[in-house]
Amino acid sequence: MKPLITKKPWHPFKELNYTAFFITLLLPPFILVPVHLFVKPSMLLAERFFPGTWWLEIALLTIYAVWLGQVMAKTGNIGKVRVKYWLFFSIIFFGQFILGLTVNSKFLMSGNLHLPIPALIIGAPIYRGEGFFMPLLLLSTLAIVGPGWCSHLCYIGAWDNASARHKKRPKKTITRKQTLILRYAMLALVVVAAALMNYFNVPITAAFVIALAFGLFGVFLMLYYSRRLGYMFHCTTYCPVGSLVTLLGKLYPLRVKIDQNTCTACNICSTECRYDALTPIDIKSGSAGWNCTLCGDCLSSCHASSIRFSFFGSRKNAWIIYISIVVALHAGFLALARL
Ligand code: SF4
Ligand code: SF4
Ligand code: SF4
Repeated sequence: MKPLITKKPWHPFKELNYTAFFITLLLPPFILVPVHLFVKPSMLLAERFFPGTWWLEIALLTIYAVWLGQVMAKTGNIGKVRVKYWLFFSIIFFGQFILGLTVNSKFLMSGNLHLPIPALIIGAPIYRGEGFFMPLLLLSTLAIVGPGWCSHLCYIGAWDNASARHKKRPKKTITRKQTLILRYAMLALVVVAAALMNYFNVPITAAFVIALAFGLFGVFLMLYYSRRLGYMFHCTTYCPVGSLVTLLGKLYPLRVKIDQNTCTACNICSTECRYDALTPIDIKSGSAGWNCTLCGDCLSSCHASSIRFSFFGSRKNAWIIYISIVVALHAGFLALARL
């Protein structure tokens, strides 16, 4: 007689996504080993405190990347998990920053104080006329993950995201056109202000106070507007790096596309997008708006699986490859000293 319950043999790799597995296994060491070998003093935190342990740090972070890659490869997990690992990175970032200032400067990249405000990535080198390491690091990251910098990797954006999620659904108050004008006005303002401060030799203390005031006003926008409106008001209107990222993101080959044959126009995905990049008009047009940051949240919200990450207009979904690269970079960023 056939048994009622047949026990299937246990298979550890049954659910494994092999694409995500290989990318997340190979990419973190590929990034971190050269960083360890060619940048002196080492930017790997473990090596700074316990010489000779750089390989252990890379191995542990690679295991973490492989695990996270598998979790993010399942579309049902994207929205929930992205928020967590992004916030986790930001907490580690600011934890290291505070420890670097108060306990040991080895936690900091150069041992010098830099305010952790993204706008300074643009403004500080213009004001100083030197120090282009951070803009170059940002540009290299953008070349790899495009606008995903603003939805997976930035140390400040995670807080705006957390604040916006206080409200269940976003409530739009300004038009796309007004957002666009505000964004690029802020970018121009920061560039012109930094150039004028350089020209008039504004003392470093005054520059520090201005930068601090700019950052604190940003925190106010997050706590007040993003929290009340349910979308990332600070990131979509105020931060000049966000403007630059979406502008340069146009050169990146990935786009969020909506399959008009299967989409039921339920607009649920629209209420999931905290970047105001997926209005009902965008959904009808078959593409996310220009301010999409490739966060992937809309993928988990679509009951009809109509949303895909399209590479150069291809009909295949490039999500797995993209998120595996993002996760590998996220793990790599966790390994390093700050600022
Ligand atoms: S808009 Fe600015 S603060 Fe927001 S995620 Fe992008 S770089 Fe970070
Ligand atoms: S359209 Fe989708 S991928 Fe783009 S920002 Fe909105 S939720 Fe994220
Ligand atoms: S959730 Fe899916 S089916 Fe509904 S509007 Fe968005 S893409 Fe279309």
